[in-house]
Amino acid sequence: MAKLFSGLIENCYDSHVHWLGTGQFASRIRLHELRNPERDLPLLSISPTQKNRPWLVGFGWDQNLFMDDDSAGAANKKFPTHETLDRYFADKPVYFLRIDGHAAWVNRRALELAGLWRKNPEVPAGGAILLKADGYPTGVVLDHALQLFEKLLPKASAIQVKADLLEAQNIFLRAGFTHIRDMSCDDLQWAAACELEAQGQLNLAVEQFFSADDPITFDEQLRKAVAHRAERAHTPQALLQVAGVKVYLDGALGSEGAWLSQAYQTSQSSALANAANFGLQLLTPEALQDFIEKAWLKEMPIAIHTIGDEAAHCAVTSALKIREQKGLNGVLHLEHAELLRPETIALMPRLKVTCHMQPCHFLSDRRWLKEKLGPLARHAFQWRALEQSSVNIAMGSDSPIEPPSLQRNIDAVALAADEGLLAPQTSISKCHAHPNHQWAPKTRTRFEDGAAAEVWFRGDKII
Ligand SMILES: [Zn+2]
Repeated sequence: MAKLFSGLIENCYDSHVHWLGTGQFASRIRLHELRNPERDLPLLSISPTQKNRPWLVGFGWDQNLFMDDDSAGAANKKFPTHETLDRYFADKPVYFLRIDGHAAWVNRRALELAGLWRKNPEVPAGGAILLKADGYPTGVVLDHALQLFEKLLPKASAIQVKADLLEAQNIFLRAGFTHIRDMSCDDLQWAAACELEAQGQLNLAVEQFFSADDPITFDEQLRKAVAHRAERAHTPQALLQVAGVKVYLDGALGSEGAWLSQAYQTSQSSALANAANFGLQLLTPEALQDFIEKAWLKEMPIAIHTIGDEAAHCAVTSALKIREQKGLNGVLHLEHAELLRPETIALMPRLKVTCHMQPCHFLSDRRWLKEKLGPLARHAFQWRALEQSSVNIAMGSDSPIEPPSLQRNIDAVALAADEGLLAPQTSISKCHAHPNHQWAPKTRTRFEDGAAAEVWFRGDKII
């Protein structure tokens, strides 16, 4: 294991978080300890408040941790099904998000409410609805199909959003992070966060990305980002800053939605079992190029969620095309960039690009990377190759997918090095320092034995 970190970090920065999601995390049913759904579902801890809501909403299951209940406790690793949920929750709709937030496990009631309880239901572009042999849904849906359920969930009130943002602020500060880059802003959150800042309750410097979770909303999100950036143009010291727009180009590896150049070696869907699965491509190159051009015309940075190697390659070649054909050279952020082929990295120095990596994902993904990806696994976590090509790297947690933690990233890079993935030469603590020292000056965190011991924010000691 790596040494526990002790030392000072100025402007300690988590470069990829979901701020509101981190706060909401506490109000959702925790599924992280599910090992055998049949056995464990009745034992879930569900509070009276959670039980009284119109939907049961949970977060954190991972089929890679499932075990059969035979004496050997053999690995199961199969996606769960609606039948298991129906046995315990027949009347109330259930929406259980996978640990990566890219897959949901739902019961029959939820499928009925979403209009999906039928043979071969229509699949939204960029999504997947896994089907049984009889053509009915298994109860697991991926990526853009999640929105069919999200839109049915009760909307959070402005008061609740503010409470959740403050809850998350405490989580980040206790972990030592004073600067965050938040990837999922929308209008409601922006208004709530502005109120917190005006009331002096904000003790975090926040870079906000307006997220077009559904690509149809891209123009709208870009327009909002541009308008809110203009409002803040005269207050460079403000703690909330618009930093860009975000789009999704693929899903995630754990749910086999990350877009790969070679098919997954494993398969989770019986309907897909006979077809090679390359993951999900959520945008055509033409649509992506259109988004990049529109953002750069407004001098707005664009962040692209890319986990698979083919997604990253498509993002980089699309940006290069806009640069070469339109003469624009804006800021590009690649989110996660977990799999990168050498030819993709070779193109990056021609762009103003930063890769936002979360080493902590290695701690869980290492268990199945080779099994799922085969030869593609050698392209995972290319921090050293990026550094050698002088590509900017920033590091973070993807909270609430992983807890915000400097030490976990240090441990992950060290463990990866033990398994043959060269560590970057830059220290991991440097990859966690926000470069702009004029923004929230006199802010620093003192770590002792891996934990945040003291935090100063704009000169005040707050922890
Ligand atoms: Zn994320």
